Amino acid sequence: MPKAPRKRWPAIPKRVAGLAGPITVTVRRGALTAPDGDDCWGLYLPPKRRILLAGGMPPALRWHTLIHEWAHAWLIDAGLPNLLHGETEEELNRNVEVVCDTLATALVRSMTTAMNLDPMERKK
Ligand SMILES: [Zn+2]
Repeated sequence: MPKAPRKRWPAIPKRVAGLAGPITVTVRRGALTAPDGDDCWGLYLPPKRRILLAGGMPPALRWHTLIHEWAHAWLIDAGLPNLLHGETEEELNRNVEVVCDTLATALVRSMTTAMNLDPMERKK
């Protein structure tokens, strides 16, 4: 029996629920620059409760980046960075990044399987 064709990824929502209230999501046309000056795929701005995503990513990567940034909000809202601290600010940041990447990878993998999405889908 042939496999069902893969479905297309849903559009990125303009607003997502955070633990402490809604978070707006904006997809930019081009690249993003982090506060440290590096190019990045996404940013979470806690005071504004806003996620920014760079343009031009394929859907699976865009969703991974959304969930990664959303996870930053979950951790901050829940106070978890207090548990993830290390000896230095660098260690805290590294620990937070690992947790956010793990959550994003797990959820994108779950979405791909549960919704029969094409992980290699190109830009819409
Ligand atoms: Zn991050």
